[in-house]
Amino acid sequence: MDQQIVQSTSASYLAGRYTNTFNRLAQRASIARVYVQVSSDLACTAVPFGGGVAANTLMVLDGKMLDLMADVANGLAMRESGRTSLSLLQIVDLAASQQMSFSRFCQAADPLAFPDASLTPGELDRSVELFTQMTGGTFFHEFGHIWNWHSLAKLREQIFVPGGGLFTYTSVIEDNADIISGILNAKSGHAQSSAELAYDLMAFTVIYRRNPGGYSFGNTTSWQTQYQQTSPTYSSLATRKALLSSGFSGWRSH
Ligand SMILES: [Zn+2]
Repeated sequence: MDQQIVQSTSASYLAGRYTNTFNRLAQRASIARVYVQVSSDLACTAVPFGGGVAANTLMVLDGKMLDLMADVANGLAMRESGRTSLSLLQIVDLAASQQMSFSRFCQAADPLAFPDASLTPGELDRSVELFTQMTGGTFFHEFGHIWNWHSLAKLREQIFVPGGGLFTYTSVIEDNADIISGILNAKSGHAQSSAELAYDLMAFTVIYRRNPGGYSFGNTTSWQTQYQQTSPTYSSLATRKALLSSGFSGWRSH
């Protein structure tokens, strides 16, 4: 997403949360450090959507999505070490049922389904790496908006559709940010599967909010959802992953 943001000092914005991760990503990709705000839950603060938003010099990331990714990363690290036999779908659904339950609505929370304390030091290291790579999927997409002055491009496009609202811009902007995300994740040495999982979790978080408890990660990974284009501004998840992939390929062959 791309929107002009007024920097807020509200308690809903969590200064310092996941800062180490953002610094690590900026260092890996050798990009300028941009100002990043984390909301407790983007749907409860800046905009009723999810993922992230970027302006000219700063981005705001959805803290609830990041909290879910952190919980999932812990579960995946335990799965890799053989300490849980839960599938990816089961891990995500379990983490979502805790992170996005009504009692946690609009609140930040450290991993609940797979708490840090239940991980071995080795699993925790692996989880931090998985979380960093997943966060890269979103962080580098938003950085692409800043890098390409998309907030300016969006203002220009609004001239043609006056009063059209928040999403009055073409999908070229989002497609472009997805390619940049692929390039910078590849440059950072990240697995393509991590960025792809981040995109699915981003979409899952947005849809889950509208159907709490009645939506599963298996719905997101179904072909019907993967190929559905829900808005003129965003390509389908399948296309967005193809754009990510072209970014990865572009970096590898450069
Ligand atoms: Zn975007």
